[in-house]
Amino acid sequence: MEERVYNFSAGPSVLPLEVLEQAQKDLVCYPGAGCSVMEMSHRTKSFENIIFPARDTLRRIMNIPDDYEVLFLQGGASMQFAQFPMNLAHQGDTLDYAVTGQFAGNAFKEGKHWGKAVCVASSEYKVFSYIPRITEDMLDSDARFLHITGNNTIFGTAYHELPQTGSVPLVADWSSGILGMNIDVSKHALIYAGVQKNMGPAGMAVVIVKKDAILEDIDDVVPTMLRYKTMIDKDSMFNTPPCWTIYMCGLVFDWVERNGGVAAMEKRNREKSAVLYDLIDSSEIFNNPVVKKDRSIMNVTFTLPTDEDTKAFLAMATGRGLINVKGHRLVGGCRASIYNGMPMAGVEKLAECMRDFEKGMRE
Ligand SMILES: *Cc1c(COP(=O)(O)O)cnc(C)c1O
Repeated sequence: MEERVYNFSAGPSVLPLEVLEQAQKDLVCYPGAGCSVMEMSHRTKSFENIIFPARDTLRRIMNIPDDYEVLFLQGGASMQFAQFPMNLAHQGDTLDYAVTGQFAGNAFKEGKHWGKAVCVASSEYKVFSYIPRITEDMLDSDARFLHITGNNTIFGTAYHELPQTGSVPLVADWSSGILGMNIDVSKHALIYAGVQKNMGPAGMAVVIVKKDAILEDIDDVVPTMLRYKTMIDKDSMFNTPPCWTIYMCGLVFDWVERNGGVAAMEKRNREKSAVLYDLIDSSEIFNNPVVKKDRSIMNVTFTLPTDEDTKAFLAMATGRGLINVKGHRLVGGCRASIYNGMPMAGVEKLAECMRDFEKGMRE
């Protein structure tokens, strides 16, 4: 394939074309360095001029308060499922979780390895088609945190309002919502996100953590590499960081800032998702099972009447250069992930394909 298609993958996912072109321009010889970022030592001025501005730009575009640290860590979001409990709680402590999807369930399971993990709310019995309302009285008074998954990538739901947690600190996995919708950092003790959804290529997670949320007397068993303090003290460079991924994320952060910041991204994502949801809601064959107020503006899920229809539709979409529209293997159906890098033109092509399919066309 020599032409770029519209890629609706949930992750790794589409990146802004301008960012790829900038990376291409500097790929072989990064200005001032005489080598590629991929060949660059992380202990150089050149790399400092990549990682620190990237972090600062993220601070600006997310309005991250000064009493929060920003870390670039390896192991993706899944490593955070294990890492944040070790840094915020002692072994055996009570840890509250809201289970609103597959990743939320994985985080909950991982929490059980460390503490007394409690599921305080779940939407599983309704196939994760809504976000349960969580109020302070549902939480354990001695819970070290409540963990939520801000945007549920597989099921296409999102918290459009954060739960009221009172004195219990809020921890959120915002992997598929970060930079795509406004997130009030100050309402969280900790936010983490795998970057391959909406920030860059795979290989890292961003962790935004309130300094005083981290335990000072962290348990002895916690390995050096898994202590946030280790990475805070070394500016995320205790060991070799994923230099290329950090560089690419920095370009994406600049792109977001240049294009109006997160507020503008959210506006565009609302418009893009509305094109699809409006079509689905007025269609006789496409259906979205999610409670309307909880619909994600990043991942739009939809089903067709039969498996044959789904197959035929996906083949038609692929034939038109609209790839990875297939739903997650757990839920089947279809899913269009429309992160920041997906232009409205791509969404409109998908909508056209859906309308044509409903009219009876098959290619
Ligand atoms: C993709 C995803 C994950 C897993 O991310 P990895 O970086 O692959 O570990 C976790 N949570 C959410 C919400 C995701 O979308």
